This record gives sequence, structure tokens and C-alpha cells, in this order.
Amino acid sequence: MSHVFPTYNRLDIELVSGKGTEVQDQNGTSYLDFISGIAVCNLGHSPSVVKEAVEKQMETLWHVSNLFTITKQEEAATLLASASGLDAVFFCNSGAEANEAAIKLAKKHTGKTKILTFKQSFHGRTFATMSATGQEKIHSGFGPLLPTFEYLPYNDEEKLSEVKDGDVAAIMLEVIQGEGGVNPGTLSFLRAVEAKCRELDALLIIDEVQTGAGRTGLPFAYQHYSLNPDIVTAAKGLGSGFPVGAMLGKKELIPSFSQGTHGSTFGGNPLAMVAAKATMETIFEEEFLKDVQHKSEYFMEQLTLKLQEYRIVQEVKGIGFMIGISFDKDVSDIIAELRHNGLLTLPAGAHVIRLLPPLTVTKGELDQALHILVHTIKQHQSAEVC
Ligand SMILES: *Cc1c(COP(=O)(O)O)cnc(C)c1O
Repeated sequence: MSHVFPTYNRLDIELVSGKGTEVQDQNGTSYLDFISGIAVCNLGHSPSVVKEAVEKQMETLWHVSNLFTITKQEEAATLLASASGLDAVFFCNSGAEANEAAIKLAKKHTGKTKILTFKQSFHGRTFATMSATGQEKIHSGFGPLLPTFEYLPYNDEEKLSEVKDGDVAAIMLEVIQGEGGVNPGTLSFLRAVEAKCRELDALLIIDEVQTGAGRTGLPFAYQHYSLNPDIVTAAKGLGSGFPVGAMLGKKELIPSFSQGTHGSTFGGNPLAMVAAKATMETIFEEEFLKDVQHKSEYFMEQLTLKLQEYRIVQEVKGIGFMIGISFDKDVSDIIAELRHNGLLTLPAGAHVIRLLPPLTVTKGELDQALHILVHTIKQHQSAEVC
């Protein structure tokens, strides 16, 4: 028997090596990886800048407690602050932990109890972040949940306008719902959420765990909408595979996270921080992000154009390299066929294929992926008619 709890629906493929966009399995079969460890390997697999930074740090000091000064943590925080316009950072090890910090800070700072989140959201698997997540299938069997959270329908300005409650500490949301189906928020909805926060004197928390670290062609996805969040959380892509989470906040919030209010043993340790620094120094460069924008615009255009003739395809959506293709049917068979044809993709809900290539993907690899997608969808559709 396996001695690992069966919490994941695993494939029996083991990926044993990877460089850039390409990975190889235990039998030597190569794939184009458009999963990137779920938006983690934004610089592709084994990026040499990160490898060199981590190797160098391994020669000197691996871990030191936050009882001591950690200059590399200050430097990583400065990179996040200048990319976001926010002022202070708390480092942890995952997306859920970053959201936990955000939830605690919002309650502490406002003295209020409720946090509004959205249906089809995903904020993590810890008790608080699971409670924040607006999906029944994720809550199932774990009740009663924390009473902190209430769920509103996403992209629904009317329901939002009905919120009058004075006890709201924060509204928390993803600007593109990732796990919930790659659903981009509309500009007017997101602006209305921000206005509602100001009206209620509540904080705006944006969960950029999946959309941050350059995934959408800007450091953070909220920047496409010119939003002004009080708190931003990030994780997945921050460390190129090294576990790094971060909660960023405005300077007004600094006194509320004073000594002794929050902490983490591993959060912000030197190894994690050099991985994060090397990753962010590369991704947050204007030239790098411009290149992501150009490549992703080309890819989205081509996808939309080439898939429009297929009846089973409903929509191509997303921003930058966070892309969803929605179908009128369950996509698990198509994902298996794509994999068989050499392209790794993942679902976002039952009807959406999600594409998260490394941001370093080449135009040649994008063309190859387009070819596999079109060919596979075409075959799938004609097989269905027979
Ligand atoms: C993945 C994800 C999380 C949870 O991150 P973990 O590192 O798995 O805890 C939270 N929010 C969003 C939007 C995510 O995509």
C-alpha cells in the first residue's frame, strides 16, 4: 500500500527532469508543460539564475530564525513593495498562509468580524482559508465552518450593492478566479468592489496567489484594473518552486501587525529569500513583462481564431498566460488526449481547460502547443459525432 494519504487524484506519470518548458517522464517521454506546477515555475523548470542564487546561499547559511536580522528578507520585501506600491511584507510558505495572515490582519486592524468573499473562489485549504473559499465541494464534511465569511456571487454588481452591513472587516477576492474556472472579474465589478470597501470602511484584500508573480503580464493582475488594494497576497510563482508566500499591506496597517501578533518558523528564511529575489529580479523587469504581454497576446489571438470553428469550444478567456478554454462538456478526456499528444494542461472546474505555460515559453513552443490543441480538439469533436 501507499503510505501517502490519497488526498490527490494522481496520474501514474512521474516527471523526473525538466528544463524551460519541457519535462520528461520516467519512460523518457517529453511533454510541453503548460501547467508549470500550477503557476509556480514561471521561469520554466530549473532556471539557472535561481539555481545559482540558491546554490550560493547553500554554501553559507540555510536557515536562521526570525529572531535575527535577515537582510535578504528586507531585500525581497523591497522588491515586492516597489512592484506593488504597497509598503510592508510578511513572509510565509504558501498561499493559504499568506491569506491567513491577511485575514488576521484585517480583523485586527478594523476590529470588525466579517469578511465577504465570492462563490467559486479559492483561497486555500487551511481551516480559515477553506472557510473563505466559496465552494461547497471544498467544505464538505468539515463543518461547522468559521462564521467569519459570507459569500457573494462573483461579477454581480447588483448583489454587491445590496450589502449594507457595518461589521465588514474586508472584502477578499481574486481578480481572475483561478480554480473556479479562470473567470476574469469585469472592470466595473472590480471597481464597484473597491468602492464598496471604501463605503463600508472595510479593507480590500486581493488574493494574487495564482495571478501574481508576472503570470498575467504585469507583476500583479489587479494592476490591469488600476485597483488600490489594502492587502495583497502572493505565493505560487514567487520562488520558482521554492515555497514562498507573502502578504503585502499598506503602511497604515503596519501598527496592527506589531511584535508578537503573527509569525512563522520558516517564513522568510535565507534560502527561500534568495530564490524569491532571483525570481522577482527577473520577472519584474519591464522588458521581461513586455515579452510576456507580446507572446500571450499572440497566443490568445491565435487560440481564439483557430478554435472558433469548433462547436464544443465555448470561449477562450483570461489575461496574459492565465488562460482558460471553456467547453460545453466535461474536459477530463480532452486533457488526457492532450497529454497523450505531448501537452500538459489542467482543468479549472469540470468544463474549463487551463493553460499556465512558463512565462519564458518560446514562440516556437506556443506554436507547437497551438498545433496540439487544435489537432486534439478537432479529433475529439469528430470522434464525438460518430
Ligand atoms: C493555490 C491558491 C491558493 C492556495 O495556495 P497554497 O500554496 O496551496 O496554500 C490560494 N489562493 C489562490 C487564488 C490559489 O490559486
